[in-house]
Amino acid sequence: MINFLDLKAINKRDEKDLQIAFKKVLESGWYIQGEFLKNFEDEYAEFCGTKYCIGVANGLDALILTLKAWLELGYIKSGDEVIVPANTYIATILAISANNLKPVLVEPDEKTFNLSLEEIKKNFSKKTKVIIPVHLYGQLCEMEKIIAFAKQENILVLEDSAQAHGAIEDGIKAGAWGNASAFSFYPGKNLGALGDAGAITTNDKNLKEILETLRNYGSNIKYKNEYKGLNSRLDELQAAFLSIKLKRLEEDNICRRQIAKRYSSEIKNNLIQIYTHEQENHVYHLYVVRTKYRQQLMNFLNRHEIQTLIHYPIPPYEQNAYKELRNIKMPTTSQIHREILSLPISPVMKQDEVEKVIKACNSFNIR
Ligand SMILES: *Cc1c(COP(=O)(O)O)cnc(C)c1O
Repeated sequence: MINFLDLKAINKRDEKDLQIAFKKVLESGWYIQGEFLKNFEDEYAEFCGTKYCIGVANGLDALILTLKAWLELGYIKSGDEVIVPANTYIATILAISANNLKPVLVEPDEKTFNLSLEEIKKNFSKKTKVIIPVHLYGQLCEMEKIIAFAKQENILVLEDSAQAHGAIEDGIKAGAWGNASAFSFYPGKNLGALGDAGAITTNDKNLKEILETLRNYGSNIKYKNEYKGLNSRLDELQAAFLSIKLKRLEEDNICRRQIAKRYSSEIKNNLIQIYTHEQENHVYHLYVVRTKYRQQLMNFLNRHEIQTLIHYPIPPYEQNAYKELRNIKMPTTSQIHREILSLPISPVMKQDEVEKVIKACNSFNIR
Protein backbone atom coordinates (compact mmCIF):
# COMPACT_ATOMS: atom_id res chain seq x y z
CA MET A 1 0.00 0.00 0.00
CA ILE A 2 1.25 3.49 -0.82
CA ASN A 3 0.34 5.41 2.31
CA PHE A 4 -0.99 8.91 1.93
CA LEU A 5 1.62 10.08 4.42
CA ASP A 6 4.13 7.91 6.31
CA LEU A 7 4.95 9.97 9.39
CA LYS A 8 7.00 7.20 10.92
CA ALA A 9 9.31 7.13 7.90
CA ILE A 10 9.51 10.92 7.85
CA ASN A 11 10.68 11.12 11.48
CA LYS A 12 12.86 8.02 11.26
CA ARG A 13 15.26 10.06 9.11
CA ASP A 14 16.13 12.16 12.17
CA GLU A 15 15.92 9.42 14.77
CA LYS A 16 19.42 9.92 16.24
CA ASP A 17 19.20 13.71 16.46
CA LEU A 18 15.71 13.56 17.94
CA GLN A 19 16.93 11.18 20.63
CA ILE A 20 19.87 13.44 21.45
CA ALA A 21 17.46 16.40 21.69
CA PHE A 22 15.16 14.41 23.97
CA LYS A 23 18.08 13.62 26.26
CA LYS A 24 19.21 17.25 26.37
CA VAL A 25 15.74 18.48 27.32
CA LEU A 26 15.29 15.69 29.84
CA GLU A 27 18.55 16.52 31.54
CA SER A 28 18.00 20.28 31.49
CA GLY A 29 15.23 19.85 34.05
CA TRP A 30 13.43 22.83 32.43
CA TYR A 31 10.47 21.86 30.23
CA ILE A 32 8.51 25.02 29.42
CA GLN A 33 9.51 28.49 28.12
CA GLY A 34 13.27 27.95 28.14
CA GLU A 35 16.29 27.99 25.84
CA PHE A 36 15.00 25.47 23.29
CA LEU A 37 11.90 27.56 22.66
CA LYS A 38 13.96 30.76 22.32
CA ASN A 39 16.33 29.08 19.89
CA PHE A 40 13.55 27.74 17.72
CA GLU A 41 11.72 31.08 17.73
CA ASP A 42 14.90 32.84 16.56
CA GLU A 43 15.57 30.22 13.89
CA TYR A 44 12.03 30.25 12.56
CA ALA A 45 11.81 34.07 12.49
CA GLU A 46 15.05 34.07 10.51
CA PHE A 47 13.74 31.39 8.18
CA CYS A 48 10.57 33.37 7.47
CA GLY A 49 12.34 36.72 7.26
CA THR A 50 10.46 38.37 10.14
CA LYS A 51 11.71 40.11 13.26
CA TYR A 52 9.77 37.91 15.66
CA CYS A 53 8.38 34.43 16.10
CA ILE A 54 6.22 33.54 19.09
CA GLY A 55 5.74 29.84 19.81
CA VAL A 56 2.31 28.65 20.95
CA ALA A 57 0.57 25.33 21.57
CA ASN A 58 -0.95 24.77 18.08
CA GLY A 59 -2.09 26.43 14.87
CA LEU A 60 -5.63 27.14 16.02
CA ASP A 61 -4.28 28.98 19.09
CA ALA A 62 -1.88 30.94 16.85
CA LEU A 63 -4.91 32.27 14.95
CA ILE A 64 -7.06 32.79 18.06
CA LEU A 65 -4.30 34.56 20.01
CA THR A 66 -3.37 36.92 17.17
CA LEU A 67 -6.95 38.15 16.79
CA LYS A 68 -7.28 38.35 20.60
CA ALA A 69 -4.08 40.41 20.76
CA TRP A 70 -5.35 42.79 18.09
CA LEU A 71 -8.56 43.23 20.12
CA GLU A 72 -6.54 43.94 23.29
CA LEU A 73 -4.29 46.37 21.40
CA GLY A 74 -7.37 48.18 20.07
CA TYR A 75 -6.47 47.51 16.43
CA ILE A 76 -9.92 45.90 15.99
CA LYS A 77 -13.10 45.63 18.05
CA SER A 78 -15.72 43.00 18.81
CA GLY A 79 -18.16 42.51 15.93
CA ASP A 80 -15.76 43.61 13.19
CA GLU A 81 -15.93 41.67 9.93
CA VAL A 82 -13.17 39.30 8.88
CA ILE A 83 -12.88 38.13 5.28
CA VAL A 84 -11.96 34.45 5.00
CA PRO A 85 -12.10 31.85 2.20
CA ALA A 86 -15.16 29.56 2.47
CA ASN A 87 -13.14 26.44 1.59
CA THR A 88 -10.57 26.71 4.38
CA TYR A 89 -10.05 24.18 7.15
CA ILE A 90 -12.54 24.98 9.92
CA ALA A 91 -9.80 26.21 12.32
CA THR A 92 -9.56 29.55 10.50
CA ILE A 93 -13.28 30.21 11.03
CA LEU A 94 -13.21 28.95 14.64
CA ALA A 95 -10.56 31.56 15.48
CA ILE A 96 -12.83 34.33 14.17
CA SER A 97 -15.97 33.24 15.99
CA ALA A 98 -14.01 32.50 19.20
CA ASN A 99 -13.15 36.22 19.33
CA ASN A 100 -16.70 37.49 18.69
CA LEU A 101 -15.71 38.69 15.25
CA LYS A 102 -17.87 38.11 12.20
CA PRO A 103 -16.62 35.69 9.53
CA VAL A 104 -17.43 36.86 6.00
CA LEU A 105 -17.01 33.79 3.83
CA VAL A 106 -15.91 34.30 0.23
CA GLU A 107 -15.60 31.95 -2.71
CA PRO A 108 -12.08 30.86 -3.70
CA ASP A 109 -10.53 31.12 -7.13
CA GLU A 110 -11.17 27.90 -9.09
CA LYS A 111 -7.61 27.58 -10.38
CA THR A 112 -5.74 28.11 -7.11
CA PHE A 113 -8.38 27.21 -4.47
CA ASN A 114 -7.26 30.47 -2.82
CA LEU A 115 -8.76 33.84 -1.96
CA SER A 116 -8.49 36.38 -4.80
CA LEU A 117 -8.52 40.17 -4.58
CA GLU A 118 -11.53 40.19 -6.90
CA GLU A 119 -13.64 38.16 -4.43
CA ILE A 120 -12.31 40.16 -1.48
CA LYS A 121 -13.50 43.39 -3.11
CA LYS A 122 -16.98 41.94 -3.75
CA ASN A 123 -17.36 41.18 -0.03
CA PHE A 124 -15.59 44.22 1.38
CA SER A 125 -17.62 46.60 3.56
CA LYS A 126 -17.02 49.47 5.97
CA LYS A 127 -17.05 46.89 8.77
CA THR A 128 -14.23 44.80 7.24
CA LYS A 129 -11.17 45.13 9.47
CA VAL A 130 -9.20 41.96 8.77
CA ILE A 131 -8.48 39.70 5.81
CA ILE A 132 -7.25 36.15 6.47
CA PRO A 133 -5.68 34.75 3.31
CA VAL A 134 -5.20 30.99 3.76
CA HIS A 135 -2.30 29.62 1.70
CA LEU A 136 -4.29 26.46 1.09
CA TYR A 137 -2.55 23.22 0.12
CA GLY A 138 0.78 25.09 0.36
CA GLN A 139 0.27 27.75 -2.31
CA LEU A 140 0.67 31.45 -1.56
CA CYS A 141 -2.35 33.64 -2.21
CA GLU A 142 -1.88 36.65 -4.49
CA MET A 143 -0.29 38.50 -1.60
CA GLU A 144 1.14 41.49 -3.42
CA LYS A 145 -2.34 42.53 -4.56
CA ILE A 146 -3.99 41.68 -1.24
CA ILE A 147 -1.41 43.59 0.83
CA ALA A 148 -1.63 46.66 -1.44
CA PHE A 149 -5.43 46.65 -1.08
CA ALA A 150 -5.27 46.18 2.72
CA LYS A 151 -2.83 49.10 3.03
CA GLN A 152 -5.04 51.30 0.93
CA GLU A 153 -8.10 50.43 3.06
CA ASN A 154 -6.11 50.55 6.31
CA ILE A 155 -7.08 47.05 7.42
CA LEU A 156 -5.07 44.14 8.83
CA VAL A 157 -3.89 40.95 7.13
CA LEU A 158 -3.44 37.73 9.10
CA GLU A 159 -1.94 34.96 6.98
CA ASP A 160 -3.02 31.42 7.76
CA SER A 161 0.26 29.76 6.78
CA ALA A 162 -0.47 26.43 8.47
CA GLN A 163 0.07 24.57 5.17
CA ALA A 164 2.69 26.80 3.55
CA HIS A 165 5.99 26.71 5.51
CA GLY A 166 8.62 27.99 3.10
CA ALA A 167 6.38 29.00 0.19
CA ILE A 168 7.98 32.04 -1.42
CA GLU A 169 7.21 34.69 -4.03
CA ASP A 170 9.34 37.70 -5.01
CA GLY A 171 11.76 36.68 -2.26
CA ILE A 172 9.10 36.99 0.45
CA LYS A 173 8.07 33.87 2.35
CA ALA A 174 4.73 32.83 3.79
CA GLY A 175 4.71 34.42 7.21
CA ALA A 176 6.38 37.66 6.13
CA TRP A 177 3.61 39.18 3.99
CA GLY A 178 0.88 40.05 6.47
CA ASN A 179 0.76 42.06 9.72
CA ALA A 180 1.03 38.63 11.33
CA SER A 181 0.99 35.02 10.26
CA ALA A 182 -0.18 31.86 12.02
CA PHE A 183 1.66 28.55 11.61
CA SER A 184 0.80 25.03 12.71
CA PHE A 185 3.44 22.39 13.37
CA TYR A 186 0.92 19.56 13.60
CA PRO A 187 2.82 16.32 12.81
CA GLY A 188 1.53 16.03 9.23
CA LYS A 189 2.40 19.60 8.15
CA ASN A 190 5.48 20.34 6.00
CA LEU A 191 7.24 21.31 9.24
CA GLY A 192 5.75 19.02 11.87
CA ALA A 193 6.50 18.40 15.54
CA LEU A 194 6.02 15.06 17.31
CA GLY A 195 2.80 16.37 18.75
CA ASP A 196 0.96 19.69 18.71
CA ALA A 197 2.77 22.99 18.23
CA GLY A 198 2.25 26.35 16.52
CA ALA A 199 3.67 29.85 16.14
CA ILE A 200 3.00 33.41 15.05
CA THR A 201 5.46 35.43 12.99
CA THR A 202 5.35 39.24 12.83
CA ASN A 203 7.40 42.43 12.63
CA ASP A 204 5.12 44.22 15.10
CA LYS A 205 6.87 44.59 18.46
CA ASN A 206 3.65 45.47 20.32
CA LEU A 207 1.99 42.35 18.98
CA LYS A 208 4.99 40.20 19.91
CA GLU A 209 5.00 41.48 23.48
CA ILE A 210 1.30 41.01 24.07
CA LEU A 211 1.36 37.53 22.49
CA GLU A 212 4.13 36.45 24.85
CA THR A 213 1.84 37.49 27.67
CA LEU A 214 -1.41 36.06 26.30
CA ARG A 215 0.05 32.59 25.72
CA ASN A 216 1.09 32.52 29.39
CA TYR A 217 -2.14 33.30 31.33
CA GLY A 218 -1.87 36.98 30.37
CA SER A 219 1.18 37.20 32.60
CA ASN A 220 4.71 38.37 31.98
CA ILE A 221 5.81 38.65 35.58
CA LYS A 222 5.00 35.58 37.64
CA TYR A 223 1.60 35.88 39.38
CA LYS A 224 0.91 39.30 37.83
CA ASN A 225 -1.83 39.07 35.21
CA GLU A 226 -2.30 41.95 32.76
CA TYR A 227 -4.82 40.22 30.48
CA LYS A 228 -7.28 37.32 30.53
CA GLY A 229 -4.89 35.01 28.73
CA LEU A 230 -4.67 31.35 27.81
CA ASN A 231 -2.26 28.56 28.58
CA SER A 232 -0.90 28.02 25.10
CA ARG A 233 2.84 27.42 25.23
CA LEU A 234 5.16 25.52 22.91
CA ASP A 235 6.96 22.85 24.99
CA GLU A 236 10.75 22.75 25.16
CA LEU A 237 10.70 19.19 23.85
CA GLN A 238 8.68 20.06 20.74
CA ALA A 239 10.78 23.20 20.17
CA ALA A 240 13.96 21.09 20.29
CA PHE A 241 12.47 18.62 17.79
CA LEU A 242 11.34 21.46 15.51
CA SER A 243 14.86 22.95 15.40
CA ILE A 244 16.11 19.63 14.04
CA LYS A 245 13.31 19.24 11.54
CA LEU A 246 13.60 22.84 10.32
CA LYS A 247 17.01 21.97 8.87
CA ARG A 248 15.30 19.66 6.38
CA LEU A 249 12.38 21.88 5.43
CA GLU A 250 13.79 23.48 2.26
CA GLU A 251 15.10 20.17 0.97
CA ASP A 252 11.77 18.46 1.73
CA ASN A 253 9.86 21.20 -0.08
CA ILE A 254 12.06 20.76 -3.16
CA CYS A 255 11.27 17.05 -3.05
CA ARG A 256 7.54 17.77 -2.83
CA ARG A 257 7.81 20.14 -5.80
CA GLN A 258 9.57 17.50 -7.86
CA ILE A 259 6.81 14.97 -7.22
CA ALA A 260 4.18 17.59 -8.00
CA LYS A 261 5.95 18.47 -11.23
CA ARG A 262 5.86 14.83 -12.31
CA TYR A 263 2.17 14.48 -11.43
CA SER A 264 1.32 17.67 -13.30
CA SER A 265 3.19 16.75 -16.46
CA GLU A 266 2.63 12.97 -16.56
CA ILE A 267 -0.96 12.48 -15.40
CA LYS A 268 -2.96 12.66 -18.60
CA ASN A 269 -6.57 11.65 -18.21
CA ASN A 270 -9.59 13.66 -19.34
CA LEU A 271 -11.49 12.53 -16.26
CA ILE A 272 -8.92 14.03 -13.89
CA GLN A 273 -8.32 17.76 -13.79
CA ILE A 274 -4.73 18.73 -13.00
CA TYR A 275 -3.61 22.14 -11.80
CA THR A 276 -0.17 23.40 -12.71
CA HIS A 277 1.32 26.14 -10.63
CA GLU A 278 4.38 28.29 -10.47
CA GLN A 279 6.87 26.18 -8.60
CA GLU A 280 8.27 28.45 -5.93
CA ASN A 281 5.05 29.88 -4.56
CA HIS A 282 3.79 26.36 -3.79
CA VAL A 283 5.24 23.91 -1.25
CA TYR A 284 2.68 21.19 -2.03
CA HIS A 285 1.56 20.34 1.46
CA LEU A 286 -1.15 18.61 -0.57
CA TYR A 287 -1.44 17.69 -4.24
CA VAL A 288 -5.08 18.17 -5.11
CA VAL A 289 -6.85 17.14 -8.34
CA ARG A 290 -10.50 17.48 -9.31
CA THR A 291 -12.79 14.91 -10.84
CA LYS A 292 -16.54 14.47 -11.36
CA TYR A 293 -15.99 10.79 -10.55
CA ARG A 294 -14.34 11.15 -7.17
CA GLN A 295 -15.72 8.10 -5.40
CA GLN A 296 -14.92 5.91 -8.40
CA LEU A 297 -11.38 7.29 -8.60
CA MET A 298 -10.84 6.81 -4.86
CA ASN A 299 -12.03 3.19 -5.05
CA PHE A 300 -9.99 2.56 -8.18
CA LEU A 301 -6.79 3.93 -6.63
CA ASN A 302 -7.48 2.02 -3.45
CA ARG A 303 -7.70 -1.20 -5.48
CA HIS A 304 -4.30 -0.26 -6.89
CA GLU A 305 -3.07 0.08 -3.28
CA ILE A 306 -2.89 3.87 -3.36
CA GLN A 307 -4.37 5.74 -0.42
CA THR A 308 -6.03 9.09 -1.15
CA LEU A 309 -7.79 11.60 1.14
CA ILE A 310 -10.18 14.54 0.77
CA HIS A 311 -9.25 18.00 2.07
CA TYR A 312 -11.95 18.64 3.07
CA PRO A 313 -15.15 16.61 2.61
CA ILE A 314 -17.56 19.11 4.25
CA PRO A 315 -17.19 22.92 4.06
CA PRO A 316 -17.31 24.79 7.41
CA TYR A 317 -20.68 26.43 6.63
CA GLU A 318 -22.30 23.01 6.19
CA GLN A 319 -21.04 21.75 9.56
CA ASN A 320 -23.38 21.38 12.53
CA ALA A 321 -21.02 23.65 14.46
CA TYR A 322 -22.02 26.53 12.17
CA LYS A 323 -25.80 26.21 11.87
CA GLU A 324 -25.94 30.03 11.71
CA LEU A 325 -24.10 29.92 8.36
CA ARG A 326 -26.39 27.30 6.81
CA ASN A 327 -28.27 29.76 4.60
CA ILE A 328 -25.31 31.16 2.72
CA LYS A 329 -24.85 30.02 -0.86
CA MET A 330 -21.36 29.10 -2.04
CA PRO A 331 -21.79 27.22 -5.32
CA THR A 332 -18.10 27.23 -6.29
CA THR A 333 -16.98 26.08 -2.84
CA SER A 334 -19.66 23.39 -2.64
CA GLN A 335 -18.66 22.02 -6.03
CA ILE A 336 -14.98 22.07 -5.08
CA HIS A 337 -15.79 20.04 -1.97
CA ARG A 338 -17.59 17.44 -4.10
CA GLU A 339 -14.77 17.04 -6.62
CA ILE A 340 -11.40 17.42 -4.89
CA LEU A 341 -9.07 14.54 -4.14
CA SER A 342 -5.57 14.61 -2.62
CA LEU A 343 -2.96 12.25 -4.07
CA PRO A 344 -0.10 10.95 -1.91
CA ILE A 345 2.84 13.36 -1.69
CA SER A 346 5.66 13.51 0.85
CA PRO A 347 9.44 13.79 1.05
CA VAL A 348 9.79 10.07 1.77
CA MET A 349 7.81 8.95 -1.29
CA LYS A 350 9.95 6.91 -3.67
CA GLN A 351 10.13 7.48 -7.43
CA ASP A 352 8.62 4.07 -8.21
CA GLU A 353 5.67 4.95 -5.95
CA VAL A 354 5.20 8.24 -7.79
CA GLU A 355 5.35 6.26 -11.03
CA LYS A 356 2.70 3.85 -9.73
CA VAL A 357 0.32 6.71 -8.85
CA ILE A 358 0.79 8.28 -12.30
CA LYS A 359 0.19 4.97 -14.10
CA ALA A 360 -2.89 4.18 -12.04
CA CYS A 361 -4.36 7.66 -12.66
CA ASN A 362 -3.72 7.32 -16.37
CA SER A 363 -5.47 3.96 -16.53
CA PHE A 364 -8.57 5.16 -14.67
CA ASN A 365 -11.73 4.85 -16.71
CA ILE A 366 -15.43 4.81 -15.88
CA ARG A 367 -16.77 1.31 -16.70
C1 LIG B 1 -3.70 22.56 10.35
C2 LIG B 1 -4.39 23.85 10.08
C3 LIG B 1 -4.79 24.72 11.11
C4 LIG B 1 -4.77 24.34 12.56
O1 LIG B 1 -3.59 23.92 13.07
P1 LIG B 1 -3.55 22.99 14.38
O2 LIG B 1 -2.12 22.99 14.77
O3 LIG B 1 -4.05 21.64 13.97
O4 LIG B 1 -4.42 23.62 15.40
C5 LIG B 1 -5.29 25.96 10.76
N1 LIG B 1 -5.46 26.31 9.48
C6 LIG B 1 -5.13 25.49 8.47
C7 LIG B 1 -5.32 25.97 7.06
C8 LIG B 1 -4.60 24.23 8.73
O5 LIG B 1 -4.31 23.42 7.71
